[in-house]
Amino acid sequence: MLEKTVVCTTCPLECTLKLTINNDAIESISGNKCSRGIDYAKLEFIDPQRIFTSTLLIKDNNKESLLPIRSSKPISQKLFKEIIEIVNKTEVSPPIKMGDIIINNILNSEINIVASRTIIKL
Ligand code: SF4
Repeated sequence: MLEKTVVCTTCPLECTLKLTINNDAIESISGNKCSRGIDYAKLEFIDPQRIFTSTLLIKDNNKESLLPIRSSKPISQKLFKEIIEIVNKTEVSPPIKMGDIIINNILNSEINIVASRTIIKL
């Protein structure tokens, strides 16, 4: 039997959840102050979700820079490698506003990759 500690980030209380794992399955979850913690712990065990952050190339005539980007919602960490491959092949040009969708519905996840910064010109 294994024990794993996970911090629930669903609300500001940030409960510390303790999972006991037996034969690759969750046997028990404790430390949650509400039922949402159970759902969080299960998802964290099966398929952890995180906000993806990176940069991509922004080009304006002969000038180049990097545009910070992020996913619009937490997304499966299992997809990060494929997302990085797509991001590395993507270029944009100004003007870009913070929140602009750079890549729509990436990998059919219904999550967008958006600009984290406004760049009007290089
Ligand atoms: S278990 Fe419930 S109360 Fe605790 S952090 Fe998660 S959502 Fe908030």
